[in-house]
Amino acid sequence: MMSSVRTSSIPPFLIVVFLVSSLMSIIGHDKQWPTSLPQQLQALDLATRIRLDQHAIGQVSTDFGRLKHVLPAAVLQPSSVDDMVTLVQFSYMSEQSFKIAPRGQGHSVRGQALVPGGVVIETSSLRHGGVDGKARITVYPSKSAPMFAYVDVGGEQLWIDVLWETLKHGLTPRSWTDYLYLTVGGTLSNAGISGQAFLHGPQISNVHELDIITGKGNMITCSADNEPDLFFAVLGGLGQFGIITRARIALEHAPQMVRWVRLIYTDFTKFVADQERSISLDQKRGFNYLEGFVLTGYNLTSNWRSSFFSGKVIGRISSLAARHSAVYCLEGAKYYDHGMESKVDEELGSLLEELNFVPGFDFQNDITYMHFLNRVRDGELKLRSMGLWDIPHPWLTIFVPRSRIVDFDQGVFKHILKSNKSKGPILIYPMNRTKWDERTSAVIPDEEIFYSVGLLRSGVHELEQLEAQNKEILQFCKASRIGCKQYLPHYETQVDWMKHFGPQWDLFVERKMRYDPKLLLAPGQRIFGSEFSRQFLANVSKLTPSKADKPGESSSCNIRNFNEESKRNRAN
Ligand code: FAD
Repeated sequence: MMSSVRTSSIPPFLIVVFLVSSLMSIIGHDKQWPTSLPQQLQALDLATRIRLDQHAIGQVSTDFGRLKHVLPAAVLQPSSVDDMVTLVQFSYMSEQSFKIAPRGQGHSVRGQALVPGGVVIETSSLRHGGVDGKARITVYPSKSAPMFAYVDVGGEQLWIDVLWETLKHGLTPRSWTDYLYLTVGGTLSNAGISGQAFLHGPQISNVHELDIITGKGNMITCSADNEPDLFFAVLGGLGQFGIITRARIALEHAPQMVRWVRLIYTDFTKFVADQERSISLDQKRGFNYLEGFVLTGYNLTSNWRSSFFSGKVIGRISSLAARHSAVYCLEGAKYYDHGMESKVDEELGSLLEELNFVPGFDFQNDITYMHFLNRVRDGELKLRSMGLWDIPHPWLTIFVPRSRIVDFDQGVFKHILKSNKSKGPILIYPMNRTKWDERTSAVIPDEEIFYSVGLLRSGVHELEQLEAQNKEILQFCKASRIGCKQYLPHYETQVDWMKHFGPQWDLFVERKMRYDPKLLLAPGQRIFGSEFSRQFLANVSKLTPSKADKPGESSSCNIRNFNEESKRNRAN
């Protein structure tokens, strides 16, 4: 009797907090609750899936780049999509709101998935089905034609697993990244590019539909026809407008085999002319995949794509490289099914006759489609075994307009990188602007053809020198007015972000205000600095606080006023 009187005098909420805290300490979750997170969060069901221990925090406090180290307050390992909805809603409604970032694989290089003092959502915990046991990769083959088939995938899923599942139906996504151990949500937040992009566009051009948790905690299904503004905002949106929990991705017939071709050039203008010629051809006459890279004597043997060449061939190319400041390699692939070998021979024969590589320097391999798409994995395992995978990666990827690619070669490959001694490939390949949907948030140069140049270098002792070279390259592009755009962008200042987005900046801000008005999501991108946040939040509360605070409502009136103010600030 006594005890029941005592219990009833304690508010039920505190009892829950007490029970949850006790439970947490039993399961080894006894670290003090962080002051940056509201105490009430502990009362939610999902609190048992929040980790505060050093191990969990340590795992998400850096990324593939190993250049940034940032401690979050906590890590949520969700057991369902509902956990993520609840967390975002809670933060949005709380007076003590906190920042949140979903983390796929943490394969960013400059802290884009890190959250100082906030909560990292480790989406990998959903990878093998949530509590509801629902499959998170479901293929919908089409009875009438493979081109109408699609797959529904959780944002946390790895592309390699998407490939395995779709291949069971003889189907495949059309557009890829070079490396497949990346998440669907992570690459769609950027663009997702590889050698198929010239033909099919980046991965973001091959999505039919998305499920999104906005920064207000609303779950919205969107597509080009339904809630198109959110759909296009999220694609290439750097995680700023919502968490992708499902993507519906277009499929096509999966070929069985690939004829993988590499052609060597010593003349840059011939190399790019042939790349551009190749991307202008249809699938029958041209390649299904086209990339290219720059080879120096050093990165020829040390880069993670070099398994293609035998030792003897490497010797021949190295001696060619020694006589020229750089050699270039066009990499193409033609897809085919068993029994079609002679057709591929014939088509490829005609194509190679049109191209101007160094005579005798054309090389071919036949491998399965699966092995071709997963080719970078072998390199990864090799580097891991040598302890060279978990080292700093000061990667820089830039999109260069076609009209200035020769200037770029002169200034960067032949001058700044003349004595490049670092490990890691230097990629260069063209894409067609028409294959990119300009309604997305992705930023690309303003020309019909532009090149992706990826300086995927790594090093421990060379780190400072590599960073200095990256700066020099960006400075060179700026001074020469080359009109480059960074891919997987990273900037230190607000002004640089505004320049990056150019005319798209106002729309980007409008969309941020509409879908994440409290600036909760993906702070590691550092797009909205503290000064900006102060002004931004002041505008939200000053103008129409009730609208902006309610989940599910937009605040266009705020947006107009905010943009006016932001323009005035830029002018000052
Ligand atoms: P993370 O690094 O975990 O996250 C990246 C950003 O997206 C963060 O801001 C994060 O908060 C946000 N995010 C993560 N999940 C979601 C989600 N579900 N919804 C919304 N936002 C989310 N890119 C290419 O385009 N082509 C390539 O060929 C390519 N090759 C690569 C090879 C290697 C070895 C590596 C390490 C990276 C490569 N990348 C490539 C870059 C890659 O696309 C990006 O790192 C991308 O962010 C995917 O990594 P991730 O899944 O680990 O995402």
